[in-house]
Amino acid sequence: MITVKDLHKSFGKNEVLKGIDLEVKEQEVVCVIGPSGSGKSTLLRCLNLLEEVTAGDVFIENDNLTDKKVNINEIRSRVGMVFQHFNLFPHMTVLENITLGPIKIKGVKKDAAIKAAMPLLEKVGLEDKAEMYPESLSGGQKQRVAIARSLAMEPKIMLFDEPTSALDPELVGDVLAVMKNLAKEGMTMVVVTHEMGFAREMGDRVIFMDEGIIMEEDTPDVIFGNPTNPRTKEFLSKVL
Ligand code: ADP
Ligand code: MG
Repeated sequence: MITVKDLHKSFGKNEVLKGIDLEVKEQEVVCVIGPSGSGKSTLLRCLNLLEEVTAGDVFIENDNLTDKKVNINEIRSRVGMVFQHFNLFPHMTVLENITLGPIKIKGVKKDAAIKAAMPLLEKVGLEDKAEMYPESLSGGQKQRVAIARSLAMEPKIMLFDEPTSALDPELVGDVLAVMKNLAKEGMTMVVVTHEMGFAREMGDRVIFMDEGIIMEEDTPDVIFGNPTNPRTKEFLSKVL
């Protein structure tokens, strides 16, 4: 589903990604961990064209994102992204937030978009909030709306960038539960997270990033139980 080859990304003179190679297979859940500033968000953003790649290749299925002819909207609807800050439209109801993309970008009729949105709201446990505005929701509820909004575009891949980092601790569980269900249903997912429990339980693979490279990549058992790279050990000793 995703193939990254020798990906480099610089902001001016600052090289943030220094040669990333990565493959994500269909239905795989890959968790990315690592210290702040190591390039995790930049990597995710390169996977759905929120950042322009400086060098190297990024393939989503068979499309090379560095190809100038690639259709940005089409790629973004195939690769959904959920951010730390939910970025819901405050002047729109939950339902309007969810149906906006399908209506505006995919040309789905309003009735059909609403009909498709209801099961998604059910999936994230918010079927009773359709007519609410974001301001009346908790952070965890907003994030679940953001997930439903992403799913409304029928993505084949979901990218999560620290989706629970901005939440009060008691709200984290509901969001993680939604993500776990999504993983169990077979969604291909790349998840940047500080939730080591989630990475351990749900990750098919865990990637440890530091200073713009993948320092270590293995099964959760190895990464959390017996990491070989001293930087991985050091990082885990601080967060576990
Ligand atoms: P992480 O998500 O692992 O914390 P980021 O990918 O956000 O790391 O950032 C990696 C580095 O890239 C940081 O030094 C950050 O300052 C820099 N960076 C990220 N985005 C930009 C940008 N739009 N312009 C300039 N520098 C950026
Ligand atoms: Mg980040």
